[in-house]
Amino acid sequence: AHEGILRRQSARESAARTYARALPIVPVRARGLTIEGADGRRYLDCLSGAGTLALGHNHPVVLEAIRRILDSGAPLHVLDLATPVKDAFTTELFRTLPREFADRARVQFCGPAGTDAVEAAFKLVRMATGRAGMLAFTGAYHGMTAGALEASGGATDVRVARLPYPQDYRCPFGVGGDHGAELAARWTESVLDDSKSGVPHPAGMILEPVQGEGGVIPAPDGWMRRMREITAARCIPLIADEVQTGVGRTGTFWAVEHSGVTPDVMVLSKAIGGSLPLAVIVYRDDLDVWQPGAHAGTFRGNQLAMAAGAATLAHVRENGLAERAGTVGAHMLAQLRVLGDDFPCVGDVRGRGLMIGVELVDPEAAADTAGGPRPAAPELAAAVQRECLRRGLIVELGGRHSSVVRLLPPLTISDEQATAVLDRLADAVAVVAR
Ligand code: PMP
Repeated sequence: AHEGILRRQSARESAARTYARALPIVPVRARGLTIEGADGRRYLDCLSGAGTLALGHNHPVVLEAIRRILDSGAPLHVLDLATPVKDAFTTELFRTLPREFADRARVQFCGPAGTDAVEAAFKLVRMATGRAGMLAFTGAYHGMTAGALEASGGATDVRVARLPYPQDYRCPFGVGGDHGAELAARWTESVLDDSKSGVPHPAGMILEPVQGEGGVIPAPDGWMRRMREITAARCIPLIADEVQTGVGRTGTFWAVEHSGVTPDVMVLSKAIGGSLPLAVIVYRDDLDVWQPGAHAGTFRGNQLAMAAGAATLAHVRENGLAERAGTVGAHMLAQLRVLGDDFPCVGDVRGRGLMIGVELVDPEAAADTAGGPRPAAPELAAAVQRECLRRGLIVELGGRHSSVVRLLPPLTISDEQATAVLDRLADAVAVVAR
């Protein structure tokens, strides 16, 4: 079955297949960190639905929540009508939000995917401000629909101004650290305040507290606070895209808690649906300018997703899994840095909580004369991914050059499992480095 399924799908599916191309496996069973393929092989899954599976695959509390709905006779589809399931989800979501935000927050159910919530956020701040432009950052990823795409990667739509996102390893200003972050902040100020910059007063600014697809780049807390000051002083709504960073992944329940920044809009998806599709925006109540019907959609009330999501949010909160992600993540980062010291092809190891990236570089190339990083090595990263798979470990690639091996294990990963993941990754790197 395994070979036949792979052959048929590769013949029938679009050439845009990405994960399926890099990971030729046929999952048929899964539990926690483990996936089993149709060929009987088992894998440790550190892709976790691109960061969706906060509790891993088929966690008992998630299965139980879904089963309860299925057995209760409750309707599975009621558009966006109020239901006990929706009430429980909203209550649990508001319980997890930073207090000063939750007290004045409204939620809009947006549709199945993160990109739907990004579109809703853009539309809302454009309606609220009467302005059109958007500020986004180099290396950003916000989704694949038109508006979200404008604000992602190398898109060049005139309505979106792209600003430097601070980073230590490939700092656009060549200095890194707090100094590099401050230069990035000043760049943003100067673009906004220069009437000749060609950037009209924007409707909003969207940022990821840790860039995920962009190659695991955590924003410094000080820079996050500067972005809050800069936008507040100019009445520009600040949109935090927590699609990937949310629900404990970075060591706090929401990643904005690290810096203490209160955004005006939060974009949430992935883990909030407990494995099933769900996306919302949560925003300051005075931005609630929609007219009835202004933002509709058939699939904005997925009862199973809300039940699975409420169970997930509650389980993460009640069991301190965000703190746990912080501790295990810090341990894994430290181990990986030791590994990096042994292999010149490991250019950088970085992350926050259980969002971890290992950047592969060309060890043969001369380091840049100013002591900067070596060139990115996407072919080495792809080779590490392949070698990991051979050793039963699933990892994702990311970064502007696809040169960053990404680990996004569930928050429930045990110490023993973390060690097994690190051992397999170390083996893979050692083989590729030979
Ligand atoms: N924002 C961020 C930060 C993401 O990481 C992603 C998905 N990787 C999205 C938005 C888009 O979500 P979706 O793929 O569900 O549309």
